[in-house]
Amino acid sequence: MRKPKIVVLGAGYGGLMTVTRLQKQIGVNEAEIILVNKNDYHYETTWLHEASAGTLHHDRVRYDIREVIDTHKVEFVQASVEEIKSEENRVILDNGEISYDYLVIALGAESETFGIKGLKEHAFSIVNVNAARQIREHIEYQFATYNTEVEKKDERLSIVVGGAGFTGIEFLGELANRIPELCKEYDVDYHKVKLICVEAAPMVLPGFDPELVNYAVSYLEKKGVEFRIGTAIKEGIPGGIIVAKGEDEVEEIKAETVVWAAGVRGNSVIENSGFEAMRGRVKVDLDLRVPGKDNVFIVGDCSLIINEEINRPYPPTAQIAMQQGEVCARNLAALVRGKNELETFEFHNKGTVCSLGEDEAIGTAFGKKVVGGKAALLKKVIDNRSLFMIGGPSLVFKKGKFNIF
Ligand code: FAD
Ligand code: NAD
Repeated sequence: MRKPKIVVLGAGYGGLMTVTRLQKQIGVNEAEIILVNKNDYHYETTWLHEASAGTLHHDRVRYDIREVIDTHKVEFVQASVEEIKSEENRVILDNGEISYDYLVIALGAESETFGIKGLKEHAFSIVNVNAARQIREHIEYQFATYNTEVEKKDERLSIVVGGAGFTGIEFLGELANRIPELCKEYDVDYHKVKLICVEAAPMVLPGFDPELVNYAVSYLEKKGVEFRIGTAIKEGIPGGIIVAKGEDEVEEIKAETVVWAAGVRGNSVIENSGFEAMRGRVKVDLDLRVPGKDNVFIVGDCSLIINEEINRPYPPTAQIAMQQGEVCARNLAALVRGKNELETFEFHNKGTVCSLGEDEAIGTAFGKKVVGGKAALLKKVIDNRSLFMIGGPSLVFKKGKFNIF
């Protein structure tokens, strides 16, 4: 009898968690498992702000996918997914196509610019290793060029971060540490550098604990960050942005570096493949399957699950993606064995820690607030834990964060 074919798209947190659990749970004779990913490496999306600021080399945030999969049980295909033809159980890749009996979509997020003019052309986004490397190089180039020009353009030393969500704040924390190093390296006067955070909402980290937010804001302000709160980015232009100032006034902020960290959406493959979605996220059933498609699961940032307590979607996080991966693997194993009773996904919130650089952070864990060095240590434990969950102790030793201050 032909073995069922399970195809997993994306080797991020959700995809790798599914595959590494599945390879332990089912035997080679039970199913064929195929993992498809654009690159031959996995990257820790949650560390990309460090690679973007240049506080952590981009090779530290990635590892070879073959290091964590059992190649006797899982076939790895390096390819870019272009379209999913779910009516025909086929996936169109940039270098061919693949059929499946069961599909797991774990293609992660993309930047969402909400149609704001000029952002795609003139702003960077922290979305993958290539983007992170480009942001780091671009910032460094501005510092390296500043002193070589007769007429010095101070806007070379201005960096705008759009959005004071977790990504924006974590990136600012890294930049605040990196800027003094760049000033020293390129003989640039530190006082000429501007680090501006533009946030449309009336507060930084909207919805997060106000006491922790105040801690983060005053820490980052002391490190030179200027916050422009209640200020929305309206347009990206060459060499800067236009922001709304009051009801109908606008202001130009000149900056050679603009990083848009003000929104994410599910992968565009979702909408291009005709799935019903909200900003690229499909509201999945509680067993993580697409409504009406019994053989298609979605985990991670392309999925949407409602938090019944507040009747709003859970935010897309690695924490949820990994927990979904575990449930998805068990559900696939059940289906392969002919069981139709599937497990329902329940999110166990372990807290949130937002780093403010190498040795500072704010967060909540197990219902308690934590700040400063303790929170930064906790963040490293969380970062190492996700390596452990996917690749065990050997991956932690290879890629883990042990620089405990
Ligand atoms: P990802 O882990 O992003 O993986 C998607 C995979 O799909 C990638 O390997 C990608 O290469 C691949 N892929 C994409 N498109 C294609 C294609 N067309 N074809 C083939 N392969 C493709 N969450 C937390 O819980 N805690 C944090 O501290 C945290 N920090 C963050 C910091 C930053 C800077 C950012 C940007 C996000 C952070 N998040 C955090 C959110 C978290 O990273 C995401 O929710 C998580 O990565 C989602 O997992 P995923 O498996 O859906 O996607
Ligand atoms: P986000 O959507 O959480 O935050 C975006 C911010 O940009 C919001 O504060 C929003 O008000 C602001 N904004 C939107 N439009 C704007 C405009 N035109 N001008 C100025 N500001 C504007 O996005 P994110 O920070 O990238 O986070 C994405 C997901 O990743 C979230 O689910 C988050 O929880 C998760 N994440 C978690 C961590 C962590 O746990 N440490 C770190 C990074 C990201």
